Amino acid sequence: MASNGLRLGIDLDGVVADFNAGWIKLHREEFGSDLHPSMVQTWDGLAELGGFDDMPAFWAWAKGSDLRPSIFRHLEPFPTAVDTLRRLRDEGHSIVVITTKPQWAITDTFRWLADNEIPTREVHISDVKSEVECDIYLDDSPHVLPDLIANRPNATVCRFVRPWNHPLDGATDVGSWSAFHTLVTERSSGS
Ligand SMILES: [Mg+2]
Repeated sequence: MASNGLRLGIDLDGVVADFNAGWIKLHREEFGSDLHPSMVQTWDGLAELGGFDDMPAFWAWAKGSDLRPSIFRHLEPFPTAVDTLRRLRDEGHSIVVITTKPQWAITDTFRWLADNEIPTREVHISDVKSEVECDIYLDDSPHVLPDLIANRPNATVCRFVRPWNHPLDGATDVGSWSAFHTLVTERSSGS
């Protein structure tokens, strides 16, 4: 174990788990729609894109039913995400999962973490991510990133670049998992 291991605060949806591909796959199957993940270009546009009246209606559908589990049960990880997390763990860093979820999604979230063998000893399901102290954060949310920048001034806050977020003062842009690995390695060696 490296002596300079860092605490890495890692978001799930949009960073490790492909949330949009997951709900859109289900939407196509259930409604015969012609949606594609590349059509998600804004943070708040899911309801309109999916033909729901509003976000509460979207979440009511996403929650699942007696006939199927919630959308959080079977999301695919992004390519190389889990491998990179395992590599970072093996290099001595601590993977701290910090995710925001509705109450009904908590059990499926733990099932998903286990199914995908996410290499973590520490999981926080929280609405205020800055309450969890880490050295480096990785998130895609245009709402979460400003909170982390404001309340964790000594941390490196990484924006995982996605169509639904934008550059922020104080955030370091990360465009891929390999770029994140490089950034963590540089930070931990003090360069
Ligand atoms: Mg996210």
